Formats: sequence, structure tokens, C-alpha cells
Amino acid sequence: MPEKLIIIGAGPAGLTAALYAGRAFLEPLVFVGPSFGGQIATTTDVENFPGFPSGLQGPELAALMREQAEKFGARMVEESIVKVDFSQRPFRLWSESGEHEALAVIIATGATPRKLGVPGEDAFVGRGVSYCATCDGFFFRDKEIIVVGGGDSAFQEGLFLTKFGRRVRIVHRRDEFRANPTLQRRAMENPKIEFIKSAVVERILGDGKVTEVQLRSTKTGEQWTTPVDGVFIFIGHEPNTQLFKGQLAMTEEGYLVVDQRLHTSVPGVFAAGEVHDNWFKQAITSAGFGCMAAMEAEKYLSSL
Ligand code: NAP
Repeated sequence: MPEKLIIIGAGPAGLTAALYAGRAFLEPLVFVGPSFGGQIATTTDVENFPGFPSGLQGPELAALMREQAEKFGARMVEESIVKVDFSQRPFRLWSESGEHEALAVIIATGATPRKLGVPGEDAFVGRGVSYCATCDGFFFRDKEIIVVGGGDSAFQEGLFLTKFGRRVRIVHRRDEFRANPTLQRRAMENPKIEFIKSAVVERILGDGKVTEVQLRSTKTGEQWTTPVDGVFIFIGHEPNTQLFKGQLAMTEEGYLVVDQRLHTSVPGVFAAGEVHDNWFKQAITSAGFGCMAAMEAEKYLSSL
């Protein structure tokens, strides 16, 4: 028997879809994928998720969402979907352990941190280069840290990294920041944070581990190097949609195209969260999209 509903991904969108689908007796099968909790699992203090006035840690929020979804019958599988075929019905999906069939699918695969694409970046991942302050900040106690980016992530994670580093320098390619004013104010008031504006990291250098970065001024073209132990990169995200290329309509940037009700180009396949949303990108909006996708999936299944 095919599954009624398979959900791919277990961040705020996938877990909320699982909760709503569970409560609609769809017994959703959720493929957790490589990163349970999605991006909130790598986020430190979550202060803007309603209902938690004192804030909470990202992984804790993800664990609570999972517990709530499981309470209503969602079944979590600690595997990734590696191939799909949406041209047949039921839909066919493959995970590491074999083939699965489903009458409806919700894609909530989220997005992955964007890379700088400079020499040294790949070579020093885990040896000074990181995309996750929660995961790696601890290793940089009393060290020199550089954070790349000018958005909310760079500021929020930069502030978190001041718990560990001797100094945190935020390197941004323009002289104005995108981060929200509250985070900017907090960073500017923090004595451990300094700013290198209108500059880009051109090369990451080291010997076994990162020792310095080469910077270039985006105004004058001047180049210089500075000693550093940790380079934390927060410059946005790429949608995780490679799996669906050729099967679902996508934007030029690779985001899934959905209608107002989160239907993709294939009836019965829905999308929720940062896999289609390149605008709001909040845990709460992703959760909202998860709710919408599950409600639409339920309507679709009833109509079959
Ligand atoms: P973002 O808002 O897209 O910001 C990315 C930053 O990286 C921008 O400042 C951008 O510069 C810079 N950048 C992009 N590509 C670059 C490159 N190749 N080299 C150097 N710099 C580059 O991404 P984000 O900060 O990850 O935030 C994503 C979303 O999550 C946003 O909607 C944000 O509001 C949300 N978020 C919210 C919170 C919170 O509410 N506390 C925390 C984290 C994230 P430009 O400014 O020049 O484009």
C-alpha cells in the first residue's frame, strides 16, 4: 500500500506539516534527511518564535516540534530521500533503505548555507572555516574570529561568538548592513566586535588550520592579510532542490515554483519553507508554510 503522505525534510516547515497531517489522520512518513531541525538546529538563541518569551535554543525548539508531531502519529525515518519520480502515480521515492510510494508529497528540504567560493574555503572546513557558530564556536575560545556577511545571521552568530573569541570582526562587502537595527545596535555596543566594511575575503590561508585571510577593499581594490583562527561564513543560502531538477518547475535561482496554496507544478506535490520561500525565511514563516502545505495535501487526498 502506498503511503498517504510522505514529507521530505524535518525543519520547522516539515515538522509543522507533520503535526497538521498527523492531526488529520494522514499518518505522515517523514524523511528527516541529513540535518534534523534544518537551520534552526544550527541557530543559537531563538528569540522571535511566538510562545517562548524567554527565548530558547534552536535544537530545543526542533526537538519540541518533533515531539508534538510524533504525539499525533507522524513517523520519523532517519534517512534521506535520494531519488524521486513524480511522473507516475503513486509517486515513487527512494531512500537509503529502498523504494517508497506515496499518494501525496510535501517537500520541505530547506536551504543550505552559501559558500564564498574562494581558495582555501573547502580545504579548511572543520579546520578553521565554519558555517555554524553553535557547532564550532566552542573551539575558538580566546581566538581571533572573522565573520563574513552583513545580514541577521552574521550579526546574530557574531554576537554569539563573542562568548568564545577574543575578538570578532565582521567583514562585509558594503558599508551598510542588511541586519535588523536591534542586532546592529547590540553588535555595535559589544566591545568584542569590530567591523571591516567594504571588504571581501579573497583567500583563506593556513598550514593544517587557518592562520590568516587575505582581504580586498571593494572601494579601492587594496589587498591585505590579517591573522585569524576562525572564519565563520554567513552569506545566505541555496535551496536544496537538486533532487527535483527536471521534475518540478523552479526559478532561475533553483527555488521551487509554487502557487498561492503551495502546490508545485505537479498536482499532489507540495512545497513548504525555504525550498520555495526566498523572501521571509523565518522559522515561524516556514512553520506557517508547513501548516498550509499539510492542509492542502489533506484536501488533495480527500479529492482522490
Ligand atoms: P541574508 O539576509 O541574505 O544576508 C546575506 C549577507 O551576506 C548580506 O549582507 C550579503 O551582502 C552578504 N553576501 C551574500 N553573498 C556574498 C558573497 N558572495 N560575498 C560576501 N558577502 C555576501 O542572509 P542571512 O543573514 O542568512 O539571513 C537569511 C534570512 O534569515 C533573512 O530573512 C533573515 O532576516 C533571517 N534571519 C533572521 C534572524 C533573526 O530574526 N534573529 C536570524 C538569522 C536569520 P549584501 O547585503 O551586500 O547583499
